[in-house]
Amino acid sequence: QAQSERESLLIALGFARDFFVKNLETAEGRSIGLSYFKERGFGPEIIQKFDLGYALDGWDSLLNAAKKAGFQEDILLKAGLILEKDGDPSRRYDRFRNRVTFTIHNISGKPIAFGARILTKDKNQPKYINSPETPVYHKSDVLYGMFQAKKSIREKDNCFLVEGYTDVISMHLSGIENVVASSGTSLTEGQIKLIKRFTDQVTVLYDGDAAGIKASLRGIDLLLEGGLIVKAVVFPDGEDPDSYSRKVGSQAFQDYLAANAKDFIGFKINLYRNEYERDPIRKAEVIREVVQSIAKIPDPIIRSVYSKEAASLLDIEEGIIYAEVNKILLKVQ
Ligand code: ATP
Ligand code: MN
Ligand code: MN
Ligand code: MN
Repeated sequence: QAQSERESLLIALGFARDFFVKNLETAEGRSIGLSYFKERGFGPEIIQKFDLGYALDGWDSLLNAAKKAGFQEDILLKAGLILEKDGDPSRRYDRFRNRVTFTIHNISGKPIAFGARILTKDKNQPKYINSPETPVYHKSDVLYGMFQAKKSIREKDNCFLVEGYTDVISMHLSGIENVVASSGTSLTEGQIKLIKRFTDQVTVLYDGDAAGIKASLRGIDLLLEGGLIVKAVVFPDGEDPDSYSRKVGSQAFQDYLAANAKDFIGFKINLYRNEYERDPIRKAEVIREVVQSIAKIPDPIIRSVYSKEAASLLDIEEGIIYAEVNKILLKVQ
């Protein structure tokens, strides 16, 4: 019974994907959804590759189409496709309305959820609306784009990690396919396990703003703890991989990644260099921060390699770094 409910949910989600995709060919979808994607540089090929779509501007267009196709309302509700006002089953309506849609696939390519972006600059509404947790969509175990990326992640033995749907898509347009998004939520252990099925190297490409840098620092430590080799790139202020790749073009974007990918020590040093160059106390704090990250690495040999690098880059005796790392490790045990 439980199995067949999962199947019903997946079939309903597949129907919704088809519906949103087909909506792009209606008059409304063409003039609003397709032109929005066109403006962002997303043409027919990439629209098809990512199952991009459009949710019509009405309260119940999906609900009615799905009912007509024989789907039960309770399944649509459980799939997160419709909502219910005041817990009243007679007042059900579409969750996604008047937005472009991003299909979230499981790693075998089946639709399991959607993200939907607003088309206006209306600050009173959330920019993105996403599917809720459902029996087939556990957010903390999913990375957007993994279905389209997994082959390339294996081949390149590296996974780029970005914040958003459009970052993944624009990077594909720049010729980079080994990329997934944490979709705005902070990285989880489940997502790290998913990456580890395909590679143990991750390059974090979060947005070039305060929130993105903060998320990078947290993500880097979690990835180190998971035993991964981590690099990170900082983008110029206000840029994300989508905006920056479109601004400079794919070749310059790829060159930027190659030139600016730093391991976690280089990342922290770059981030804080201006603060500590003339301030020994601040420098001591930065050393402590680097040491904290080193202590997260499970493999003692890799830990030792990074300790050596930190000592050299921060111009401090290796013995001090080892001693501090060991202090943390003893406390944790
Ligand atoms: P765009 O380029 O379309 O403006 P973005 O991906 O750059 O989108 P960010 O604000 O950087 O948008 O957010 C990163 C990701 O976080 C989004 O792709 C989306 O998955 C998620 N997100 C952003 N805003 C919201 C929101 N209001 N509610 C839920 N998720 C959100
Ligand atoms: Mn952001
Ligand atoms: Mn962004
Ligand atoms: Mn963006």
